[in-house]
Amino acid sequence: MKSHIVKIKSLSHVTHDVLRIVLEKPDNYLFTPGQATEIAINKKEWKKEKRPFTFTNLPDEDQLEFTIKTYPSHKGVTNELLSLKTGDELIIHEVWGAIAYKGEGVFIAGGAGVTPFLSIFRDLKSINQIGGNKLIFANKTKADIIHEKELKDLLCDGFINILSDEAVAGYAHGIITEKFLKENIDDFDKNFYICGPPPMMDAIQGYLTKLGVRDNSVVVEI
Ligand SMILES: Cc1cc2nc3c(=O)[nH]c(=O)nc-3n(C[C@H](O)[C@H](O)[C@H](O)COP(=O)(O)OP(=O)(O)OC[C@H]3O[C@@H](n4cnc5c(N)ncnc54)[C@H](O)[C@@H]3O)c2cc1C
Repeated sequence: MKSHIVKIKSLSHVTHDVLRIVLEKPDNYLFTPGQATEIAINKKEWKKEKRPFTFTNLPDEDQLEFTIKTYPSHKGVTNELLSLKTGDELIIHEVWGAIAYKGEGVFIAGGAGVTPFLSIFRDLKSINQIGGNKLIFANKTKADIIHEKELKDLLCDGFINILSDEAVAGYAHGIITEKFLKENIDDFDKNFYICGPPPMMDAIQGYLTKLGVRDNSVVVEI
């Protein structure tokens, strides 16, 4: 499998536990919005620890951007990323992934599951095609919402937040249920894009099936 050693151009926080990491882009390294690669840290003891992450910038830029939620308690790769700095090296691998835009619809994300949709929405914006796309974004608290302002600016009324662990005026409170989907989606004859923790994805796919959405209208990572 082909791999590339690339330098970190910048590293910053976008929320209290989510990093934005910008990397050099190897020549002829191509991806489409929604796709991912595996990343390892180029240090002796970490080289073999590969983890999947999604590109969050536009494919035609001359750098790569990742938006990565960190889990210090796992003592794994994302925790180690917190100690890196500009100029340190990562190893990126082949591009893969099944999530791709196939037309207007409803995007449903949980936490860092929004990353493939960031790249898709940024791409749609760049060609003026945001249209009637909608994002239902589930998080624990308001502070966990990744790029809230950007997503609000992009999607306007098509941006719906739901918070499970915090009651905040103007935000739905709870988890995504079948009732919540019915209340917030007016047309189920659309494309649905889902990305989040596996239990959330299973539950939502079940609700959508009950609400009459055909399997071939649902885009998920496989
Ligand atoms: C296709 C795809 C794309 C993805 N894209 C992104 C993205 O763009 N951004 C993003 O943030 N995430 C993304 N993810 C998720 C991301 O890959 C994981 O969050 C990441 O692999 C976690 O790596 P880690 O080494 O920090 O922790 P892990 O590999 O989860 O854990 C390291 C070790 O910690 C222990 N551990 C595991 N779970 C727990 C727990 N709950 N509590 C305590 N210890 C535990 C285990 O011993 C484990 O071996 C993506 C996943 C996939 C499949």
